[in-house]
Amino acid sequence: MPDNLLEIQENVPLAPLTTLGVGGAARFFVRATSEDQVAAGVKYARENGLQIFVLGGGSNILVSDRGFGGLVISVELSGVEIVNDSESNVELNVAAGEDWDAFVDFCVRSGYHGVECLSGIPGLVGGTPIQNVGAYGQEVSSTIDSLRAYDRQTDQIVELSNGDCGFAYRTSIFNTTVRNRYIVLSVRFTLSKAGRPTITYRDLKEYFSGREPTLDEVRRAVLSIRRTKSMVIDETDPNSRSAGSFFKNPIVDRAVYERIAAEFADAPYFEVDASHVKIPAAWLIARAGFAKGTVLGNAGISANHTLAIINRGNASATDIINLKNAVEAGVQEKFGIDLSPEPIFVGFNNANAKN
Ligand SMILES: Cc1cc2nc3c(=O)[nH]c(=O)nc-3n(C[C@H](O)[C@H](O)[C@H](O)COP(=O)(O)OP(=O)(O)OC[C@H]3O[C@@H](n4cnc5c(N)ncnc54)[C@H](O)[C@@H]3O)c2cc1C
Repeated sequence: MPDNLLEIQENVPLAPLTTLGVGGAARFFVRATSEDQVAAGVKYARENGLQIFVLGGGSNILVSDRGFGGLVISVELSGVEIVNDSESNVELNVAAGEDWDAFVDFCVRSGYHGVECLSGIPGLVGGTPIQNVGAYGQEVSSTIDSLRAYDRQTDQIVELSNGDCGFAYRTSIFNTTVRNRYIVLSVRFTLSKAGRPTITYRDLKEYFSGREPTLDEVRRAVLSIRRTKSMVIDETDPNSRSAGSFFKNPIVDRAVYERIAAEFADAPYFEVDASHVKIPAAWLIARAGFAKGTVLGNAGISANHTLAIINRGNASATDIINLKNAVEAGVQEKFGIDLSPEPIFVGFNNANAKN
């Protein structure tokens, strides 16, 4: 097949392409294995008046029951290339369709530091900058040098520096100010060949109890801790049929936290800056009455992680939304705090799927 020819499929079920496993079909669907095919997909959508949804590994999305009426472009570009290798650092260009955890595994085995704590996060490399994935004390933004992206506004391929991407906690320009404008084609990482593994997170500190572990030990520890929380995809673990954490940890004014702490002496928080703190959403949700294992229809709160909403088998997107809405209402009523969902809602009328 010539590179610029597209094989457009129709009515392709999306549920099997997501980790939550719910939702309807894509009216049109195309696999893009080259940059030319990405461009051709955008052109096809424009000529046919179709909206576009860019699909990675489907691990951070909820597809509506009626599906998506436009064109889904599944980004399947592959290739990992070392572009610079010095004594202290290595620079790699990684295509957006590469599996993220396979890349982390490769880095750990090669002795490259910087992404070891991000072991076990499902999805593809191109999905990681979108919400600036983070876990166990690391964020992907601290290793991203720049990325190449297809700009749907100008039909050009552009290079965006780390600074251009506007990375912050679970955000970037890609899920805020210029949502839907860029299709990430490849990401350039700079990883350290010296350095030490990052052990800042409490769970990891406890795991190693003061000892300095190797990169491989950190990866194995992270995977093992994540497994206990059903935070690695495992066909045999029904609690892992999720989109990961469904809610972000809210960042609130210190005064809001102090009001809560006056009533609940055990209210946890993380410092953000002089006037803001971050409150763990899991604590708010549990205190609002949604314990691990809570069930609502075919949806539930994971038995192993308060932040994960799971498909208990045969759940519809509506089941998931009903539980999400109940959790949000419960936290708002008890604490006066609005939770923000982490996954992207596909095929809903409203970006936050309130209705
Ligand atoms: C069990 C489990 C554990 C998880 N743990 C974590 C965690 O610890 N930390 C964390 O941060 N996240 C976590 N997640 C969420 C998720 O894995 C990450 O956000 C991941 O990076 C999403 O990548 P994806 O390829 O699956 O993207 P998708 O789910 O396919 O898409 C997510 C969003 O990114 C956009 N997108 C995807 N690829 C591209 C591209 N090439 N160009 C432009 N836009 C694109 C999509 O349009 C969509 O808006 C977890 C999820 C699960 C299921």
